[in-house]
Amino acid sequence: MANKYREFDNYLKEYPSLEGYYGQYGGAHLPPQLEAAFKEINIAYNTIARSAKFINELRRIRKEFQGRPTPVYHCQRLSNKLGLTQIYVKREDLNHTGAHKLNHCMGEGLLATYMGKKKIIAETGAGQHGVALATAAAFFGLECDIYMGEVDIAKQAPNVTRMKMLGARVIPVRHGLKTLKEAVDAAFEAYLNEYDTAIYCIGSAVGPHPFPQMVRDFQMVVGIEAREQFLEMTGNLPDQVCACVGGGSNSIGMFLPFVADPVEIYGVEPLGRGSAIGDHAASITYGSKGTMHGFESYMLQDEQGQPQPVYSIASGLDYPAVGPEHALLHDLGRVNYVAVDDEAAMEAYFMLCRYEGIIPAIESAHALAYAVQVAREGNPGSILVNLSGRGDKDVDYIVEHYGYGEKFNL
Ligand SMILES: *Cc1c(COP(=O)(O)O)cnc(C)c1O
Repeated sequence: MANKYREFDNYLKEYPSLEGYYGQYGGAHLPPQLEAAFKEINIAYNTIARSAKFINELRRIRKEFQGRPTPVYHCQRLSNKLGLTQIYVKREDLNHTGAHKLNHCMGEGLLATYMGKKKIIAETGAGQHGVALATAAAFFGLECDIYMGEVDIAKQAPNVTRMKMLGARVIPVRHGLKTLKEAVDAAFEAYLNEYDTAIYCIGSAVGPHPFPQMVRDFQMVVGIEAREQFLEMTGNLPDQVCACVGGGSNSIGMFLPFVADPVEIYGVEPLGRGSAIGDHAASITYGSKGTMHGFESYMLQDEQGQPQPVYSIASGLDYPAVGPEHALLHDLGRVNYVAVDDEAAMEAYFMLCRYEGIIPAIESAHALAYAVQVAREGNPGSILVNLSGRGDKDVDYIVEHYGYGEKFNL
């Protein structure tokens, strides 16, 4: 097959720029008091994290603690059921703690240790980032303060319990709507007072430079492994690769190792209940260019540039913006962004349970739903799906709202 993507051979050397720009997106828009702290993180990342010692230590952690490499698995029964397309999944659900998030949290924790920090600070919405970070903190012997809206604390009780079990402090945020936005503000405020001894850890490939780059670099292990594994299993590259896009960490890690290959790449955004404002979180599909949470990208915003309300059945996907590198890859035409609604995601969820014995996270089921759609078109070929996490966290909610999938023709 001719490779029309050869022009991307040097992509990783070109982006981001030294100032953290991906084309016109990214950057570091910070309150003046935090500029020095983020510079310190950037310098540390560019020196320490590139040392052989750091890289070898991270490799050991991934192998011995996280259980990497995670396998690539050929979903034969599901593929046969749907037609000719061969569906493969990268099993990030088998990564320790059950999702890809630990890949960047362990990297951030190791960096914090090398920088001599005593504490990691973060906010969490659904609690998935909080649990991964609390795990890293316990591993490295760091203190861990997780800011969380009171409403989310009530909604996500099992994750709150897990964080506390792991030794983290969960600090309730009681102002405003008491959800993620207020938790972000509270965590930033705490960091302003503690940046000498603490490091702020962002939960996706978003936020001010260098976080989108750091998170992406730590997540690229997913795509690097998957590419090698797929080649070894089949002798070829997949025809298509896809992943769900919330902030964009599991997807960017999966995509970039394929960026210069003759492979079509699809990012799958959450279409929720539909295209009206407040019914989805499809930031590229329906958003516009703007600045939010310290970086420039596509975002769902009102006329004043404030975040619009977002919704998805998958709590890990309901973020009103997207990592800046996705905005660039969209504009360059290298990655295609599509949107999948709640119902399609749930149908794919039940299919993977029934046909393959894997209960996926609802987030990951969005990516799988795109693969199901491709398979139903009847084309031969192969598609590699990043199965970003496992679904244990969602089963009670699903049984209550969807039973055991009776309404889908499985
Ligand atoms: C948090 C989460 C996501 C979404 O985050 P990204 O940064 O877009 O990857 C996807 N899948 C799972 C399982 C998650 O926990």
